[in-house]
Amino acid sequence: MPHPPPRSTGPRPAPTPPRPVPWLTLEDHCAAGPDWVCEACGEAWPCLAWTSLPVDSSLRRALLPSFVGLTRQAIRDLRGRPEGPEPPEIVTRFLWFLPLNDDEARATALRLR
Ligand SMILES: [Zn+2]
Repeated sequence: MPHPPPRSTGPRPAPTPPRPVPWLTLEDHCAAGPDWVCEACGEAWPCLAWTSLPVDSSLRRALLPSFVGLTRQAIRDLRGRPEGPEPPEIVTRFLWFLPLNDDEARATALRLR
């Protein structure tokens, strides 16, 4: 009986991960204060994994409650930093799925801080 060949311990090419299903990978793309940088891709959060989602009314309904809370937290964390975004910018960044104009973003920022 021949022995099975020994397992190669040399370097192997990195496996190519299968193309992820967006909803399943979103939970990796999370962030928390005070920096609000995505843990998966290191970008300002919400990162492209979130902002590239096709927005419709059911997505808005699903995201709104938690993202309002996150926006409030992010305003507390980020405002007042020397190069940090202004509260209305934080609102449009975190609530990208809502069609807010500048005035509405400002009004929302005032209500959330
Ligand atoms: Zn990300």
